[in-house]
Amino acid sequence: MALSTPQAATLLQQGQVVAIPTETVYGLAANATNPAAIAQIYALKGRPSHNPLISHVVSLQEAEKHGVFNQIARKLAQLFWPGPLTLVVPFNPASGICADARAGLPSVALRVPSHPTAQALLRELPFPLAAPSANRSGHVSATRPEHIVADFGDTLPILGEGPSPLGIESTVISCLPNSPPTLLRPGPLLAEEIERALGQPLAHSHASQPATLHSPGQLASHYAPKAPVRLNITQLHAGEALLAFGPGLPPGHSAQTPTQNLSPSGNLLEASQNLYSMLRALDAQNPTAIAIMPLYGQPAGMLQTLHNRLTRAATPK
Ligand code: AMP
Ligand code: MG
Repeated sequence: MALSTPQAATLLQQGQVVAIPTETVYGLAANATNPAAIAQIYALKGRPSHNPLISHVVSLQEAEKHGVFNQIARKLAQLFWPGPLTLVVPFNPASGICADARAGLPSVALRVPSHPTAQALLRELPFPLAAPSANRSGHVSATRPEHIVADFGDTLPILGEGPSPLGIESTVISCLPNSPPTLLRPGPLLAEEIERALGQPLAHSHASQPATLHSPGQLASHYAPKAPVRLNITQLHAGEALLAFGPGLPPGHSAQTPTQNLSPSGNLLEASQNLYSMLRALDAQNPTAIAIMPLYGQPAGMLQTLHNRLTRAATPK
């Protein structure tokens, strides 16, 4: 169901869930201050209730009503908002963002999206929008309206059209008391760019240590298609689909092999824009596995981001 921005705003005011475009991926949005609306997001996605949501606001000024910004958090917001950066900061008790949207945590994840449609929508609303990616929990993120229909059917209201400009989820940085700024999830805003701006290295959270798992984007299996995923392949097996990168094709490839190429010229930015839609397209052909060629090149942070998503896609559920 396609919508205009005022129609989407009306539905959201009524406590309904609406899929919305952002520059990263499509989001499944609802009023972050309304527990019943937030419960619908978790139910629709099948998302575990311990996995908190990002709340989207129109400006840093609005964000400060919901979170407590230290100097570093404010600097990052001033430099990189609006954009694909999520900041995890202490929850401001004056905020109306409900506990369920934060999975009961004393912190809150906030982002100011740059997508013009998301901006226009947020300007019409008197509350923040909690919005995880518009896909079933653990599945490949939605970067086109047809992905949302594939996961939720055609009754879910969808605002916007076309592919998400960046195609990959936001970079998540925590700025919490008594710990250095920490990269919780790599994303389109590159860690090296943030480090250059701050003049200091970011700490990295280690997904392999469950005790430090404070961001479920770090869960081992996530962003995963139905088919098993094989990484860094040098040879294609019978029945597999190929996700290629760069100009060549691996041995074992034939005219019958379902094939998509992330970037024939080996451009990592193009690869990130195509990643989820190509994974979904190959998965729809029910291959025995999706075989992914090695990625390489610059910038290093983009390669790190893509490896992060691919490793999770390849981890058995
Ligand atoms: P998504 O699943 O695409 O909605 O991504 C949201 C990401 O933000 C997940 O990795 C969440 O765990 C993370 N996140 C949201 N709120 C918090 C929080 N308060 N503390 C740490 N991570 C958070
Ligand atoms: Mg997600």
